[in-house]
Order: sequence, then C-alpha cells, then structure tokens
Amino acid sequence: MVSPRPAVSALPAYRPGRNPADLAREIGVPRAVKLASNEVAFPPLPAVVAAISQVAGETNRYPDNAAGVLVGALAQRYGVDVAQVATGCGAVTLLQQVAQAYVEPGTSLAYAWRSFEMYPLLAQVAGAGSRQVPLVAGTDGGTADTHDLDGLLAAVDDSTRVLLVCNPNNPTGTAVRRAELSAFLDAVPDHVLVVLDEAYREFVTDPDVPDGVELMRGRPNVAVLRTFSKAWGLAGLRVGYLLAEDPGVAEAVRKTHVPFSVSMVAQAAAVAALASEEEVRARVAEVTAERDRLTAELRRRGQAVADSQANFVWLPLGERTAEVAAALESRAVITRPFAGEGLRVTVGTPEEDDLFLAAFDEVAAGVPAGR
Ligand SMILES: *Cc1c(COP(=O)(O)O)cnc(C)c1O
Repeated sequence: MVSPRPAVSALPAYRPGRNPADLAREIGVPRAVKLASNEVAFPPLPAVVAAISQVAGETNRYPDNAAGVLVGALAQRYGVDVAQVATGCGAVTLLQQVAQAYVEPGTSLAYAWRSFEMYPLLAQVAGAGSRQVPLVAGTDGGTADTHDLDGLLAAVDDSTRVLLVCNPNNPTGTAVRRAELSAFLDAVPDHVLVVLDEAYREFVTDPDVPDGVELMRGRPNVAVLRTFSKAWGLAGLRVGYLLAEDPGVAEAVRKTHVPFSVSMVAQAAAVAALASEEEVRARVAEVTAERDRLTAELRRRGQAVADSQANFVWLPLGERTAEVAAALESRAVITRPFAGEGLRVTVGTPEEDDLFLAAFDEVAAGVPAGR
C-alpha cells in the first residue's frame, strides 16, 4: 500500500460550502442565497465577457506562460516594474509559491489567528512550523477581532521566514491602520519576508487603512498579494498577483509556478477587468454602502459587529455559531461558520441581505449579543 507523507495525511479534507441550487432543491424552495465565499453578486462585466469570447477560438494553443500583457497592465496600473510582478492561478497559488520559495523544514511562518484558513496549511504541507498570534480586541471591551502587531513581532525568531498579514483580515473584516503597520514593517528583521494579503483592498473605505503597495516602497522584504476573485468579479477564472519591492522576491515566486497555470481566458479577462476599473469602482461603492447598511441592521439587533473594511461582516456568536449557521441554512441562507467563534456573512445584494436578516431574526431571537 502506498502512503502519502504524514504531513499530507494529516491535512483536513477540503469541505466546500453548500451549493445553493442543491440546498434549494433539498428544502423545497425556489432559491437559496449564498453568502459564504465573499464573491461579488454582480455578473461579469460586459468587457470581460467580450474578451473571453474573443480568445475562445484560440484555446487550442497554450497561454503565454509569462502572462506578458497582464503583467504589463498590472505594472502600469500600480507604478512598478514588470520584474516586480508575479501572476498566479488565484492568490492562493501565489501563497503556495511563496511557501515553496521561502519555507522548508526547520523554518516557520508567523500569522495572526484567526485569519485566512489557508495559512496553517501552507506551513503544514511544507513541513515547517507555524507561529499563530491570537487576535486582540480592536475596540474597548470588544471581542478579539484584530491583529496584534506587537505580538506578531514578538513571535519572530531565527526560524521565521515569512510573516503573513491579512489586511483587512478574513474572516473578521477588521483592518490595521497606517501608523501601526508602518512601524511594524520598520521593526521586522530583514531576513523575514512580509506578505501583506490584501485580497479585499478594493473594499477599504477608511483612508487611514494603508495601501500595501505604498508601504512596500523602499522596503525590500515586503510584498503585496492581490486577487481578481473578489472586487474584480473573476472568482471563477482564478487570477491573482503579487507585487514585490525586491524583484528577486517576485522572481523566486515566479520560479515556483506551475507552468501555464494562468489560463488564456483568465489572462484576457483580467486585462479587460483592469481596463474597466471605473465600472468596478462603481460596483464596489454599492457593495460598501450595502456593507454599512447590513452592519447597522445587525447592530440594531444587538449584535457586536466589528467595523468591516471588506465585503463581509463578522458576527462573534461564540458557542452558538454552528447552530445558528445550520438554522440559517434550513431557511435557505448559506453563510460561513467558524465553529465556536463566529459567523462570516458575505455582503450580497440588498435583496439577498434582507432574506438573510429575516432568517436571522427567526433563528437568532435570543442569541446573546457577542460579548
Ligand atoms: C479570497 C482570498 C484570497 C485569494 O483568493 P483567490 O481566489 O485564490 O485569488 C487570498 N487571501 C484571502 C485572505 C482571501 O480571502
């Protein structure tokens, strides 16, 4: 019998969220609402659909392995050199490439916890260590929902190779501000690569939440990770990118890529999306206005919802999380529970969010208001 490496055997099986069509059929309703994966609810932009149709007839050929047109467009958009850019099959693949390039047994990664679910898996697959630094309360008397940057700095030791800072943080939606993040980056030792995971950057409305690309300038151990999956609406096509101050970092990440992993269709769609930035911004403004309405509605119900800078909100329901998520699901609303901690709810259309709120009112009457 063959056996995988123990590190791989120990990995949890991936459990996808419920498919809304299956759920609707199962409970006998016309439609279920999916607020579980932080996609945007809008259909792809017309220019994106046109670009996809245009390349459809060329897909008997391999894509451009270097994604030259897309890399050029990204370099121009962000004011960096093409040598500072790496593209990947979703930002998650770039995280795997970062781990392959910088982490090995005997070294470690450090990150806040709770944060993006993939971070612990990166260390586990690499056979490397994980230093998890618990979130702290972002407001007086609030729940633990934001980064402890001092704690993260204290967790760095000789084994640390990569620090991951998810800003805004998934799943809590909270964001660290410019002064504290700049001071933190100045204090991190040079031998540690800091990856600012800004998957939700486009939804940030507080001007005091820094743009990682600005903070990266002049700091050769800093890189910024972004994705087309969230605000840009291309989750189904899988495109992400990494911008690094030091071209050597981008090169190391490019060297570990799976050949041709950003498809021809994905490259064309991403280029078209970048060229439609005005429309994307208008959509994002609708999402952030709806986020603020959803937050206010939940607070009106006594829930301790943190200020989110992303396209989801976090309900710290503690021990009741799994039960509330299951009850919502039986009412055709799919959310993302983190058992024992809280519920992450993606901002949907106003209509979808009203369906969620109505279901929440039914199931959560008497849910204690966080702590
Ligand atoms: C969604 C997400 C990503 C990346 O998504 P891709 O679809 O792989 O580009 C990366 N980081 C965080 C924190 C995310 O939530």
